Amino acid sequence: MAEPEHLLLVEDEEGLILGLEYALKREGYRVTVARDGEAGLSAARADRPDLLVLDLMLPKRSGFEVLEILRGEGHAYPVILLTALGQEIDKVRGLDLGADDYVVKPFGLSELLARIRARLRRQADAPAPSPSETLSGFSLGDLRIDLNALRVVNAAGEPEELSVREADMLRLLYRERGKPVGRTQFLDEVWGLDRFPTTRTVDQHIAKLRKKIELDPKRPRHLVTVHGRGYRLEV
Ligand code: CA
Repeated sequence: MAEPEHLLLVEDEEGLILGLEYALKREGYRVTVARDGEAGLSAARADRPDLLVLDLMLPKRSGFEVLEILRGEGHAYPVILLTALGQEIDKVRGLDLGADDYVVKPFGLSELLARIRARLRRQADAPAPSPSETLSGFSLGDLRIDLNALRVVNAAGEPEELSVREADMLRLLYRERGKPVGRTQFLDEVWGLDRFPTTRTVDQHIAKLRKKIELDPKRPRHLVTVHGRGYRLEV
């Protein structure tokens, strides 16, 4: 039998720790808990977990510091941040520092479990990051797409925010640039096991993306519809 996957939970709220530890163990994971940033850092260095669930507001060291130090030391395991409601800026900063995903407190257990499964599965599927996953951005006409900072910046230097999902879609489109990407491929690669979306969800996200990257979203020049096939990025 395969070794159970090892999760490190760095969180200081006792109630949340109890619930999460129980739920994660019931899912078959091995779970280590650290209750402050310092302990989290030591445990992450010593145990090299398969995945880190990291709260941002922690005693001794913040989640940001922990993340920055670990990534600086070359630890590459997936990190899912626990952020609080209304801390949009924290999410962006966390993703900039190398977090893979986040959930916003208060979150549903099933949402966190789905995100953990999706990240671990992605890790198992792709042991080494492919160039497209490490792609930090690209240019599109006068626009600069910054996938790490989740921003589109126009020629005048005005930024527009991208969601994590939109950035993932652009990453996939850019990897396959010049070729159509089907709706089911978007669902497989961008949505993973996170949700149960429909192909309509993909179309809605494409419409939002067009508003951000097209001069005239009704006559797209970069994000083109390929009838019966999906969407194609023209760079
Ligand atoms: Ca906390």
